[in-house]
Amino acid sequence: MDKCQTSIQKNKNLSRRDFIKTTATTAGVATIATGITLTTYVNAAGENPVTNEKRWGMLIDTNKLTEVDIDDMVNACQEEQGWGNEAHSTGNQKAGWIKKVKVKDKATDRISNLALMCQHCDQPPCVDVCPTNASMKREDGIVLVDRHLCIGCRYCMMACPYDARSFVHEALTDQKEHMPRGKGTVEACTMCVHKVDKGEKPACVEAVDSDAVIFGDLHDPTSKINQTLKRVQSTQIRADLNLNTGVRYSGI
Ligand code: SF4
Repeated sequence: MDKCQTSIQKNKNLSRRDFIKTTATTAGVATIATGITLTTYVNAAGENPVTNEKRWGMLIDTNKLTEVDIDDMVNACQEEQGWGNEAHSTGNQKAGWIKKVKVKDKATDRISNLALMCQHCDQPPCVDVCPTNASMKREDGIVLVDRHLCIGCRYCMMACPYDARSFVHEALTDQKEHMPRGKGTVEACTMCVHKVDKGEKPACVEAVDSDAVIFGDLHDPTSKINQTLKRVQSTQIRADLNLNTGVRYSGI
């Protein structure tokens, strides 16, 4: 059993009530900005109701994606979501919804650069271990954190095999109305749900001026992402965990 599975199993052995009891005193009270809450996005109504007929996903071609592209993706995410200006956060708890990482092919020693964000798993370990249901998965596969339910226990951060979540240590100012962030809560890539629900692409996808990153409905056989996945060899990072990620990669 690997580290991630061990952590998940351990967490499941605690009842939610016990867990909340033991952590509530240490986790502190989250301070949330006013504005639109993430719960709004769970069942976004209107012209684009959330159903499991869709499964939003992203395909990143590491052969086409340049290092400049990845920088552009990171900058676009920071600009869109308003993270990255926190003064005192450090190390792996520093906000980083999307990261530039290098992966090495053990067989060939080839190194690829890629953008790594929440992989929007179909079987998200973060949702399994969350004691308050703050971590959630929408019907269309987008994984979110409801900041109003998050008690800052950080179990989801331990459970995530992609190190894709970060913790907010300090009070924040100048937040985006569509993305309330809060001291004492955990956050991660939202697949730009606020844009997707309006029929737009995520900001990081828009930032890349090529088809190195394709966003779309994995379930729609006519979508570009679906058709490309049928044509090219692709992989999921840590495919061995069988999480069925919404973010896929080709060229690695
Ligand atoms: S989809 Fe949106 S939130 Fe996620 S990494 Fe891209 S820009 Fe950031």
